[in-house]
Amino acid sequence: MQVIFLWKTFFVIIIFHNVNRSIFLFKMTKSEFKDCWETVLAELTDKLGPLKVNTYIRPLIPYKLSDKEDKAILLLPKGGTMLLSMSKKYTADMEEALFKVLEKRYSVELTENTPRETEEPASPYTDDLNLDPRYTFENFVAGANNRLALAASLAVADGYSKHYNPLFIYAGSGLGKTHLMHAIGHYVIQNRPKKKVLYVSAETFINELILSIQSKSQQQFRNKYRKVDYLLFDDVQFIAGKKAAEEELFNTFEALHGANKQLVFTSDRPPKELGDFPERLISRFAWGIPVDIQTPDYETRMAILKNKTELEGYKVENHDNYVAVLDIIAQNIQSNIRELESALTRIVGQSSLTGEPITPALARKVLTDVFGTRKNELTPAFIKKKVASYYGLKTSDLESSKRSRNIAYPRQIAIYLIRELCPNYSLPKIGTFFGGRDHTTVLHSYEKIKSDLKENEDLKNQIDNLKAILDV
Ligand code: ADP
Ligand code: MG
Repeated sequence: MQVIFLWKTFFVIIIFHNVNRSIFLFKMTKSEFKDCWETVLAELTDKLGPLKVNTYIRPLIPYKLSDKEDKAILLLPKGGTMLLSMSKKYTADMEEALFKVLEKRYSVELTENTPRETEEPASPYTDDLNLDPRYTFENFVAGANNRLALAASLAVADGYSKHYNPLFIYAGSGLGKTHLMHAIGHYVIQNRPKKKVLYVSAETFINELILSIQSKSQQQFRNKYRKVDYLLFDDVQFIAGKKAAEEELFNTFEALHGANKQLVFTSDRPPKELGDFPERLISRFAWGIPVDIQTPDYETRMAILKNKTELEGYKVENHDNYVAVLDIIAQNIQSNIRELESALTRIVGQSSLTGEPITPALARKVLTDVFGTRKNELTPAFIKKKVASYYGLKTSDLESSKRSRNIAYPRQIAIYLIRELCPNYSLPKIGTFFGGRDHTTVLHSYEKIKSDLKENEDLKNQIDNLKAILDV
């Protein structure tokens, strides 16, 4: 199998090194290296298991195999600096797997910047399409907010639905429009390789059009956009009012749609609110069923943060603290996933910079500028809920009569915090939040924690974390 694979995909140049000895020099194009890298990944998965490979190795982009220097160059994905130190640990494994697959030793080099092309001319490989390798369907977290947009995108990528032509996705900033659009691109390239995909942002479209007018190469420009099976057009709202671009887009639309080719648009608003556009374009945008992405709910926000943690390979030292940090972020940043993710990046970045562990207190410190000041008054119910979730319990456990220490102690902590933080609640009143406990029990709980705090460092930490979670 492997021999056939090598034979079929490698462009082999034989170089006679000297009279006695000849060596084979394989020159592999970018896409061939990509194919071969899949085999390497399979090898690595056998050895290291899927979790490590998917987290630390798969996000790397196979860039070039240099035979001159015996190097395999892999690029870090955009924003993947954090990945570097983790991925580096596996370079020996990667080298070994490469050797198994290619029977030649290469040293693996991880690099952040695109190294300068010296050997290969630019070719139209997928990564020249400007698709972010992280923006795939696999990395897109499904939630109630994006279900329809996701389903429509998958249908369009698979080519089995004609209801969505064009597919028009609209949503506010940072909600995943570009991600979904790139995912369609990746999917088509991988699963339907004969289809030609073109991704373009409105801005690039406008710039290219201007250039083509200046250099009198408009025909070339038109050909480029009209000879594709999928046109992915990002942020279409930006061309509003730019007459030449509107005209060109209209004609492109007509040509592609007439030939049954798929068009996908994203926009920050629905077609009918694109007031500055010519009516004929607006009505065409609405030919398919426009789909929107809403802001994500709490569960989806948490899932996105967890997904990001895995993807970036963040090291989680203390699981409880880490979940508490994610909770703080998800509670406070609700309407923009880009900001949600960048909050996490900042906290992790700060921690790796200073060596401080990732705790709710650190999260608060790093993010005060994002969160601003507290809007809501603290209530006993809210504190109870936070304490319960911090200790992995249900609120009803704290209200119950259960006396086991893993429940009774958090209950006392909740009582302590309420007494400290909600001065308007009397002892008997606090008792009513805990299954009607009487005021002496409440007072005892409070005093117990207060005195434990004097000598128990660990407890002090927990209370500090909880206070940070409660934003006090
Ligand atoms: P938009 O184009 O709508 O402004 P993007 O597609 O650029 O937003 O998304 C912003 C960031 O949020 C990206 O890093 C993207 O990967 C991430 N993101 C958005 N939605 C999701 C989702 N459902 N699952 C995972 N990541 C998401
Ligand atoms: Mg976008």
